[in-house]
Parts: sequence; structure tokens; C-alpha cells
Amino acid sequence: MRKKLIAGNWKMHLLPVGARALVERIRAELDPLAATLAKDREVMVAPPDILIPAVAQALAGSSILLGAQNMHFEDKGAFTGEVAPPMLLAYGVTHVILGHSERRHIFHETDDLINKKVLAAIHHRMTPILCVGETQDEHDSGRALDVVLRQLQRGLEGVADDHVTRMAIAYEPVWAIGTGRTATPAQAEAIHGAIRGAILERYGRERADTVRIIYGGSVNDENVDSLVSKPDIDGALVGGASLKADSFARIVRARTR
Ligand code: PEP
Repeated sequence: MRKKLIAGNWKMHLLPVGARALVERIRAELDPLAATLAKDREVMVAPPDILIPAVAQALAGSSILLGAQNMHFEDKGAFTGEVAPPMLLAYGVTHVILGHSERRHIFHETDDLINKKVLAAIHHRMTPILCVGETQDEHDSGRALDVVLRQLQRGLEGVADDHVTRMAIAYEPVWAIGTGRTATPAQAEAIHGAIRGAILERYGRERADTVRIIYGGSVNDENVDSLVSKPDIDGALVGGASLKADSFARIVRARTR
């Protein structure tokens, strides 16, 4: 059975005091349920890099995992403004969101660059969460699946058979991110099924059945149940609603069947 992954992407929000307070409130809601939740789901939060030390401290002793929103692919060097995988590992970061649409579209990250980051994450035994998703235009012109499968294929270039199961894929239709419009469970499930199909074709049944494919795009405490109860939707990548402890905790407690 694949454990659901509920991941909060805090984007460029919060200051240290607010970040610590948010973790405290999330922990107050979720720590008492930790043993039950751990049976079938994992929870992760990805603060901005500069808040990682404060959040790592605030998470001490909890089962909530720590993620990053991005990273460079080199271990060190003359890359002003960048953060290297060993720096994240030093603070207990286990997951890294890669290829988020905001990175692709605002910061012009290419499939090639994202692929290098995926390979670096795997090399460092982190869990890359590879984001794929079509724009509104691509959606409207019926190209969603083509775009998603191309991003997937290019993101997975060079990922060995034994390593693909360490990854998670996030299907995040760009038109649903931060817009309050979400893909219907049926729409999302169709794309998730196709992603799993592509992984199956390349890596075989057992690995395809292991890789988690999570959905992102205006997930909230009202729509999460219907999304994550679909068989191929293995959790959620949550932006806005992850900044409110009660909403995030409710999303974590989603009904999954
Ligand atoms: C995201 O940042 O990945 C995201 C899905 O944001 P939101 O939930 O706010 O749409």
C-alpha cells in the first residue's frame, strides 16, 4: 500500500516567529494523532530556505518531515544565491520540491535543469517531488497529457530503475495553482493514471505501483477528501491552505476512501 503524502509548500511566506508558531499549531493538532496517521500517510512542510533551521528546531521530536522548495544540483561552488543539497541535509531536509510551475514559469527553469536537480536529489538520498502540469492554454487546447508526459519523461531522464521509487511526482495543473479552481477528481485521476502508465511502461509494474503521484492546485479542507480517495491520487501538494494550521491539519486527516 502506498502511504499518502500530504506536503505543505509555504512558498515565500512567513518570518521566523510566524513559522515557529505555525509549526506549533500544526503539531498541537497532529501530534496526538501521529501513531494513527503514520499507518497510512506522511506529512511534510517545505518552508523558505532561510526558515529551515527554525522550522527544523520546531519540528524536533515530531514525525512531520522537512522539505525544501528548490535546490541547486551541485554540492558547492560559485553559484551566488543558491543552496546546495548538503546544506539542506545538514538541517534534516529529506524532501525537495523540484520543477514547481513557479520555478518553471517565473524563473525559467528548463526540463534539463530540473532533471539535473532530480538526479542530485536521488544521489543524496533525498525524495525529489517532481512537479509537472499544463498551463491554462495547454489545457484549453487539449494538450494537457502531452505536456505532462513530456515533462515527466524529461524529468526522469537518467533515473535508474532502482531509484525511481524514491521519487514522488506532483501533478499540478498551472491553472489550478493559487486560483481557487481545482481539477475535478475525475480529471486529476485521469492524468495520474496516465502518469502511472508511463512509469509502468518504463520501469515495470512493481515500481509503478510504488511511486507516489500527488495532486496540487487549490487543494483545501473541503475538496481534499474527494481527490485523495481516488486510487491513483496518493496525496496532495498544498500551497495556500498549508499556511493555516487548522486547514492543513484537516487536509492531513483527509478521508482517503
Ligand atoms: C502549490 O504551491 O504547489 C499549490 C498547489 O498552491 P495552492 O494550493 O495555493 O494552489
